[in-house]
Amino acid sequence: MKASRFFIGTLKEAPADAEVVSHKLMVRAGMIRRVAGGIYSYLPVGLRSVRKVEAIVREEMNRAGALEVLMPAVQPAELWQESGRWTQYGPELLRFKDRKESDFVMGPTHEEVVTDIARNQIKSYRQLPVNFYQIQTKFRDEIRPRFGVMRGREFTMKDAYSFDKDQAGLEASYRKMFDAYVRIFTRIGLEFRAVTADSGAIGGNRSQEFHVIAATGEDDIAYCPNSDFAANVEAAEALPLIADRAAPSEPMKKTATPGKAKCEAVAEYLNIPLERTIKSIVLATDNEGAEPTIWLLMLRGDHELNEVKTGKLPGLANFRFATEQEIVEWFGTPPGYLGPIGTKKPVQVIADRTVAHMSDFVVGSNEVDYHTTGVNWGRDLPEPTVADIRNVRPGDPSPDGKGTLDICRGIEVGHVFQLGTKYSDAMGATFLDETGKPQSMMMGCYGIGITRILGAAIEQNYDERGIIWPEAIAPFEIVLCPMGYDRSDAVREAADKLYAQLVEAGVDVILDDRGERPGVMFADWELIGVPHRLVIGDRGLKDGKIEYQGRRDTEPTLVPTGEAAAFAR
Ligand code: ATP
Ligand code: MG
Ligand code: MG
Ligand code: MG
Repeated sequence: MKASRFFIGTLKEAPADAEVVSHKLMVRAGMIRRVAGGIYSYLPVGLRSVRKVEAIVREEMNRAGALEVLMPAVQPAELWQESGRWTQYGPELLRFKDRKESDFVMGPTHEEVVTDIARNQIKSYRQLPVNFYQIQTKFRDEIRPRFGVMRGREFTMKDAYSFDKDQAGLEASYRKMFDAYVRIFTRIGLEFRAVTADSGAIGGNRSQEFHVIAATGEDDIAYCPNSDFAANVEAAEALPLIADRAAPSEPMKKTATPGKAKCEAVAEYLNIPLERTIKSIVLATDNEGAEPTIWLLMLRGDHELNEVKTGKLPGLANFRFATEQEIVEWFGTPPGYLGPIGTKKPVQVIADRTVAHMSDFVVGSNEVDYHTTGVNWGRDLPEPTVADIRNVRPGDPSPDGKGTLDICRGIEVGHVFQLGTKYSDAMGATFLDETGKPQSMMMGCYGIGITRILGAAIEQNYDERGIIWPEAIAPFEIVLCPMGYDRSDAVREAADKLYAQLVEAGVDVILDDRGERPGVMFADWELIGVPHRLVIGDRGLKDGKIEYQGRRDTEPTLVPTGEAAAFAR
C-alpha cells in the first residue's frame, strides 16, 4: 500500500465523550468514526485491523471443525416468542415492525435462529455433532454505550453454536471451542485469563469467559496467583462462601446482604425470574434511624436505576412493595442501613409506595455514608465495582484452598457456554437417536467480541504517542518512511526497491510516499501504531544503511540496506 493512495484520517484531538485511552486513540488514529451513540463506521485503517482479527478467528474456528454460516441480522419475533425470550430479554433487544405490522428484532445473539436451522436440517444422530459459526453484526440497545467499540450498540461478534447428541458430546465440543479460544487470544498477542462466569441472560449451565486484563475493564476478576482458579466476581456459584459471609468492616455492620436463598424468596415474591434479574438485595433506610424500608436491588446485567424507576424491566409491572414486616420475615432482620453507602450504586424501591414516588426521593452527597440518590457516580463518588457489591476482597481465601485471592479488572472478549437443552426443548429441536427415539439436541454457544478486541488490545498496548499494535492485528506490519521521497532520487529508488521486496515477500507494508516532513510522518505512524518502521535517508544510504525502529524501541538501529527487509520481520 502507498500512503498517497490510502486514507489517513489522523486527528490532533480526542472526542470529548471518550473516557478510555482506546476510544481516544481509535478516533485519533482515524480508525473509527461515531455515527450515533454506540454506532460507528470503520475507516480503512480500522477495518484492516478488524479483518485481521476476523481472519485469525475464522482460521481457528475452521481448524476446530466449526462450519461457517451467515444468519440474518433481522429476526422474526415468532422465534423469540417460541424460546420465551421475547418477554424475558428486556430493553437491550431492539424491536420494530415491518410495513405489514409484523414484529421483528435486530439480533443481539442467534440461539433462536440457529436452533430453527437445526430443527429443520438435522434429523438423525448421524448428522451430529455439528458446530455452526458466523462472523456477523449484532445489535444490543445497551443502556450505557461507552468506551467506543468496546461497548457499542452495533458491533461484530463471532458466534458459534454446537449441537450434540449427549452431555459427553457437548463437553467435547465445549472443550474444542475453549482450546480454540486459547489459541485465538494467544495468536492475537493479548494478556488474557479464562474465568468461571455467571451464565446470565442466555441461561444454561457451565460457562467461562475470556478476559483481557486491563485497568479499564468493566468486570472484576477474582483469581488465585498460586492456582488456575479465576472467577468473574458476578459468578455467585464460584465464590459462594465469600458472597454469604457477614460483612466485617465498621460501616458494613449496618448492612444486611442476603444470600442466594433470600434473593430467590424475593424473586418468587415479585414474580420475576431470579437468574436474570436479581444480583443481590440490600436493605436500607432512607435515613439512619428514621422511617425504614428502602430496598436496594442490585440487578444483573446492565439494568440501572432508570429502568427500574420507569418500570421498564419485565416483571416489574406487577410490582408490589414490601412491608417492613415482610422484610423481617424474609430476611430475618429488620431493614438495615446500606453501608458504606457512598460506594454502592443503589436501585431504590420504597416499601408501600409506588415507583413514581421514587423520583421524589431526593438526596445527594459527596461524602461516604450519606444518601446517594441524585449522586453523579464517577464524579461525586467512585463507581462501585461488582466486587464492592459482592463484598469480595483481595486476601480472601481462594475457594480451591490453594491460597488467597487477588482482584483485577478484565474486559470480556469471549464467552463459552454449555446451554444444554434449554433452546432445543423450547423450540422442539430433536433428532432420532440410535434406537430411533427422538431426543433434544444438546447445545453450546460460544461468542467472541471481534470489534471489542481492538479496544481491549489497545488498553494493553499504548504509550503517550499512540497505539502499539500487536503485530498480528496491526493495520500494517511495517511502514517505510523515506526522508525526502519527493526530492531525492536515491531515497526514492531505495524506498521503492525495499517496498517491492517486502510486497514480494508478502509483508503487509505501507510506503509513506506523501512527501511529508519526518515529524508529521513519524507522528502519524506512531499514533496509528504500526509495529515496525524503516527510515530511508540520504545520509544513511551513503553508508549503505537504513534506520530500523520498533514501535517500543527508544532508539533506532542502523541496518545494512540489503538486510533491512529481513531485519524488520
Ligand atoms: P458484557 O458482559 O460485556 O455486556 P455479554 O456477556 O453481554 O458482554 P455475550 O452475550 O457473552 O456478551 O456476547 C459474546 C461477546 O460479545 C462478549 O464476550 C463480548 O466480547 C462481545 N460483546 C458483548 N456486548 C458487546 C458490546 N455491547 N459491544 C461490543 N462487544 C460486545
Ligand atoms: Mg451484555
Ligand atoms: Mg458479561
Ligand atoms: Mg458474556
